[in-house]
Amino acid sequence: MAELSYKYLTDKDYTRINNTLAGSSSLDIIKWAYETFKDELVYACSFGAEGMVILDLISKVRPDAKVIFLDTNVHFKETYELIDRVKQKYPCLQIELLQPALSIDEQAVQYGDALWKRNPDLCCSMRKLEPLEKILNTKKAWMSGLRRDQSPTRANTQFINKDDRFSSIKICPLIHWKWEDVWDYIYLNQLPYNTLHKSGYPSIGCIHCTLPVNDGSHLRAGRWTGLNKTECGLHLKTSKNKE
Ligand code: SF4
Repeated sequence: MAELSYKYLTDKDYTRINNTLAGSSSLDIIKWAYETFKDELVYACSFGAEGMVILDLISKVRPDAKVIFLDTNVHFKETYELIDRVKQKYPCLQIELLQPALSIDEQAVQYGDALWKRNPDLCCSMRKLEPLEKILNTKKAWMSGLRRDQSPTRANTQFINKDDRFSSIKICPLIHWKWEDVWDYIYLNQLPYNTLHKSGYPSIGCIHCTLPVNDGSHLRAGRWTGLNKTECGLHLKTSKNKE
């Protein structure tokens, strides 16, 4: 087996690791991840419903784990309130709100007002992807709450994934969970959650790019509604010119 880093692992290695981990619980995947990567692993939490589950599982394995939130500066106040509640519930977690290089005002001066309406890919790139890339350059692996049934682009996600976009290893412990499983866990364990979920927002991102969803619509139908965009770019398979 090659060294467990993006640089050395082959596609066959990923297959072998996933075959070995097949059937493991999410908690076991998280244990494996911290035992394997230790401080070289970071959890990028969106503070959505899945994020509440992963934070709770992480707290059982690594109570002082490093957790990052991509703070675009245009999140809902309910999201920031949730982060404060999570900090109170898990005081040992090292939660850091990563900031983009430009404030919203500076972005407007350089790129014009409401860039999210004209070029959301560029806006996401500056406010989400670049801050994440900066920290992943210092880590071997990152964790995400992707679930296979969230969207067709996520249907083939494995526990352990080769991440060409960030030249990293992406660990997804919740791939097999259904939306109902997530909420069962939240209620059973009395976890905090974003109050917007109860106002028709199953998936919550930035204020300007998130709408409530009508009954029957897809869980992510409220994200970038009306634009030809379904992902911020964190989870696209595009490779990056990073070596
Ligand atoms: S979700 Fe919208 S506002 Fe947030 S970074 Fe992306 S384009 Fe900009």
